[in-house]
Amino acid sequence: MESEGIDPGLPSLDVTPPVVAAPWEPLADADIPAEDGFADELAGAPAAPEPEPAIPVQPSIPEPAPLTSHGPARVIAMVNQKGGVGKTTSTVSLGAALAGYGRRVLLVDFDPQGAVAVSLGINPNELDLTIYNLLTESDCHIGDVILSTDVEDLDLLPSNIDLSAAEVQLVSEVGREHSLARALAPIMPEYDVILIDCQPSLGLLTVNALTASQGVIIPMETEYFALRGVALLKDTIDKVASRLNPDLQIIGVLPTMFDPRTLHSREVLSTVQQAFGDTVFQTVINRTVKFPDAAVAGEPITAFAPVSGGAGAYRQLAREVLSR
Ligand code: ADP
Ligand code: MG
Repeated sequence: MESEGIDPGLPSLDVTPPVVAAPWEPLADADIPAEDGFADELAGAPAAPEPEPAIPVQPSIPEPAPLTSHGPARVIAMVNQKGGVGKTTSTVSLGAALAGYGRRVLLVDFDPQGAVAVSLGINPNELDLTIYNLLTESDCHIGDVILSTDVEDLDLLPSNIDLSAAEVQLVSEVGREHSLARALAPIMPEYDVILIDCQPSLGLLTVNALTASQGVIIPMETEYFALRGVALLKDTIDKVASRLNPDLQIIGVLPTMFDPRTLHSREVLSTVQQAFGDTVFQTVINRTVKFPDAAVAGEPITAFAPVSGGAGAYRQLAREVLSR
């Protein structure tokens, strides 16, 4: 039988380079030397031109269509009960990137540390009104608590240390898990995306965030013990979905603080990808000092270093989130 197909028994002349398209490679920071050209030379193929290293382009993730009207908001909780995994950084950076795509974005700082505010150059301890007032005083209007930021289309619902008292007060309330959802309801039509930065615990505040959300993003450090505690987190999400909020879904796991130069980082990433499959975002956030630098400057990475690999990565994440 004659066939035009490739005979698997013959070595193909059109050699495709092995493992060139590892998901993290397009995001490598400009300062990391790339082995560009070599694999293509080997293949003798007119392969795709190298993308600009500073602004990674992922053609597979489309640019979002511009919006002609706004709302109702899609609410997304940024959750991991481990601290220091990049929740706050991802909330601010993703929010700013989504705003850059013309989305109206509200960031909800749901951690008494008030780090979202600090990352946007706002001192949370000088505020008269915060989420605390909203959750505990029935005559407090959300519009009076929301602050605009220096980034166009990016607003903030701030919190500070008072929020830890709110958690204690909420425990005795009827419908205590729905307090944040109730508080957000009036402004849902005004925003396209609401991102909730959770505190590092699976307590009542985080359950409130999950109850108010349609989606969850789990930032996960590509470090030892990254997967430790994930079963408990998954269990909490499942319980909230079955008992309180049937709409809740995991949008994706976001690998953060990735160092493409270390075998260790690559091994952890591959373990995370094996454990979560397609749930892991294609976007991987590299470890770079630009993130703490941006936080100190009180600016999102997209404003502080707009052409950096880090800013490009969060723009790509924004496109992925909008396409999921
Ligand atoms: P979490 O909110 O989960 O506690 P943060 O976002 O506050 O984590 O990040 C913890 C620390 O790590 C902060 O100092 C932050 O600036 C820094 N950081 C976050 N993401 C990165 C990154 N990709 N590379 C380097 N440092 C980072
Ligand atoms: Mg945080």
